Amino acid sequence: MERVLVIGAFGQLGSELTDELRKLYGEDNVIASDITAARAQAARGPFEQLDILDRARLGEIVEKHKITQIYNLAAILSSIGESKPGVAWNVNMNGLVNVLELAREKGLNKIYWPSSIAVFGPDTPKVMTPQETVMNPSTMYGVNKLAGEKLCQYYFQKFGVDVRSVRYPGLVGYKAMPGGGTTDYAVDIYFKAKQGEEFTCFLDKGTVLPMMYMDDAIRGTIQLMESPAEKVKIRTSYNLAGMSFAPEEIGSSIQKIIPDFKMIYAPDHRQEIAESWPDSIDDQFAQAHWGWKPKFDLDAMSKDILENI
Ligand code: NAD
Repeated sequence: MERVLVIGAFGQLGSELTDELRKLYGEDNVIASDITAARAQAARGPFEQLDILDRARLGEIVEKHKITQIYNLAAILSSIGESKPGVAWNVNMNGLVNVLELAREKGLNKIYWPSSIAVFGPDTPKVMTPQETVMNPSTMYGVNKLAGEKLCQYYFQKFGVDVRSVRYPGLVGYKAMPGGGTTDYAVDIYFKAKQGEEFTCFLDKGTVLPMMYMDDAIRGTIQLMESPAEKVKIRTSYNLAGMSFAPEEIGSSIQKIIPDFKMIYAPDHRQEIAESWPDSIDDQFAQAHWGWKPKFDLDAMSKDILENI
């Protein structure tokens, strides 16, 4: 029987992924954990407060709950990472090392750790960015994710730790709010539109970025984690694509449902980060190795979100 620990379970991804994992493995077999206990009462199921940097406590929780798999989602995201680079390095890197070391010592079955399109940089080819290409990230977050991918591959090759990863594009969902990334506008825009308000976009017109609806991200993550180990041939992190759009395209998609929706543009420091990232992603290896296929395009996502918020 699998016993799963989710670290960073109250974030944008963790809130939804924890629910899905509980459907799969049973509520009591999935332990949510986060540095903050603020949402512990609202969340159902077992919870442990955990700072991923506290290695002793991490070990205690793994022992206490007889954990066999860890999903490590604790992170400092791209925009916040630029204002707190030292904190980002510490959480993003030392947190990952703590999990990988524990997996090695205790022989855990599987580890999941997400990477990001932030591993790419200004001199990476932007259109249909390949799996293997020039990677010179220009953000602390991107540097962390690239180093993290190499660490995962090292622990797999050297110690046989079955660690799996995808490079998410910007994730768009409506059940939990985003945590300080460069693609957060694509969540806020739906709430403003639904409230009948004008939306001020922190990215400029024409800034095309790869994005993915949360349902697809969760499905892809679980699909990768449930695949037989021999199908997971890339042990850094898989490119994963959903859709690509610029702010004005998500605006037009919303206007098909809310015709009088208006947006204006006031690009800030996040524009420079966005410009260093790809427009679109070539995910042929995820498709070929473990059968990845997204379900949602932009209009399907807009319809689903606006119906549900
Ligand atoms: P988030 O910021 O919404 O959530 C991160 C969670 O980690 C928060 O609940 C936070 O309280 C927790 N956390 C922070 N420091 C911690 C610590 N020291 N110990 C334990 N918990 C701590 O982020 P998210 O969007 O849910 O991202 C989850 C993962 O997916 C991250 O690795 C992120 O880099 C990756 N990712 C996200 C996106 C996206 O668009 N959201 C895109 C690419 C990759």
